[in-house]
Amino acid sequence: MPFKLRIGGHAFEFVRADKVVDDDGEVVDGLIHWDKSLVEISKGSKSMEEQAIIHEILHLVDYVYNADKLNEDSTERLAQGLYQVMCDKGWIG
Ligand SMILES: [Zn+2]
Repeated sequence: MPFKLRIGGHAFEFVRADKVVDDDGEVVDGLIHWDKSLVEISKGSKSMEEQAIIHEILHLVDYVYNADKLNEDSTERLAQGLYQVMCDKGWIG
């Protein structure tokens, strides 16, 4: 990080931040700023940051290609599952 990723023709920049706080004042692992095409990932362990990146990518893919149908819980469970597979395959981790 930082890096850029294109999803559905939109370029999003991923950056690492000391502390990420959402609109409700909650400290979160990652946050998408749609108006800026920016994704903040909270600094943490390597595995926590990588899983947070996958989680936010899923939100972006869901929004662009899936009409934003995934809820937060499903997004997190899919991120955990994908992260585990990607680690086992040696693609990341
Ligand atoms: Zn989320």
